[in-house]
Amino acid sequence: MKVGLIRCLQAEDMCPGTTDFKVIKEKKCAFEGVKGEIEIIGFVSCGGCPGKKAVTRAAEMVKRGADTIVLCSCITKGNPIGFPCPHAEKMKEAIQKKIGDIKIIDYTH
Ligand code: SF4
Repeated sequence: MKVGLIRCLQAEDMCPGTTDFKVIKEKKCAFEGVKGEIEIIGFVSCGGCPGKKAVTRAAEMVKRGADTIVLCSCITKGNPIGFPCPHAEKMKEAIQKKIGDIKIIDYTH
């Protein structure tokens, strides 16, 4: 699996993404049961509200080899302060629409 991760720009001040990298390395949470190596193609932010840049950034990561786009838990669950992104669903839909047949995982841990 080759993953391109997208995180919340607002969460960057609070989180360096440590748990995302840990669960990928240990194949836990969203990555449980994944066979073979998990390669990280990129770890980018949504670009800031309302998250439009996530679409082109996801496309760029696919161009560079990602077969799966992952929306980190800061977006969909609001980690670490319990404040999910109000644009998460729209962002996911727009990525799917732009890229087409791509697997999207909507949390990390
Ligand atoms: S659009 Fe959502 S994910 Fe992006 S910075 Fe704003 S709240 Fe965070």
